[in-house]
Amino acid sequence: MTLDWTTIDTVLLDMDGTLLDRHFDDHFWLEHVPKRWAAVHKMSIKTAQEQLYALFRSQERTLNWTDLDYWSNRLGMDIPQLKLEVEHLIAVHPGVIEFLAYCRQHGKQLWLVTNAHSKTLTIKMKKTRIGHWFDGIISAHQVGLPKEDDRFWEELQRFISYDPQRTMLGEDSETNLQTAARYGIHYLFYISHYSSRCTPVTSSEFATIDYFTRLIPADGGSVVRLPTGGC
Ligand SMILES: [Mg+2]
Repeated sequence: MTLDWTTIDTVLLDMDGTLLDRHFDDHFWLEHVPKRWAAVHKMSIKTAQEQLYALFRSQERTLNWTDLDYWSNRLGMDIPQLKLEVEHLIAVHPGVIEFLAYCRQHGKQLWLVTNAHSKTLTIKMKKTRIGHWFDGIISAHQVGLPKEDDRFWEELQRFISYDPQRTMLGEDSETNLQTAARYGIHYLFYISHYSSRCTPVTSSEFATIDYFTRLIPADGGSVVRLPTGGC
């Protein structure tokens, strides 16, 4: 496919997995929380994982999924504090800063649009210091809907005035790309290298990139040609 940057005014970017290494989140919820839960309830880590994974799944595709206050109350543990215990794993993906700089240099409206809760945003922006690149940061908790909900992208217009036909979205969730596609956002990119620990798999539905540097024109022009089948 061909991407011509002169046809794009607004760039919307997801945070976890897209700009930041999802290894932190995967490790936190799948390993660290169960380890602490097992210690509190005097059970094996395996049993704790079975119990917690079922609980987590019950809140998939809702705002509770990313609501740290919800999980602190539900689990009886200080979830933001537990995040700080493993914050050394929070990392920006390679090529992200170059891409953010490219967008700014070329006058694009640049917005971080995330399902993450404000307490997660505080921890991650403090650690990564990427917040200053953006015109603004919108959390799904402000919008009142998760990005998995078809109504999200219309509701987002209350916070960001954007023309879907001239907007690009980068996401590591195909579900969120599907809701954005149904709303009419034109340039959709799936980020396959969402975790430093994963083997990237190309999306069968969306243009796929492993790193954002793929979207920076190499020749100083405005056009990028991406191989069919992703990179
Ligand atoms: Mg994500």
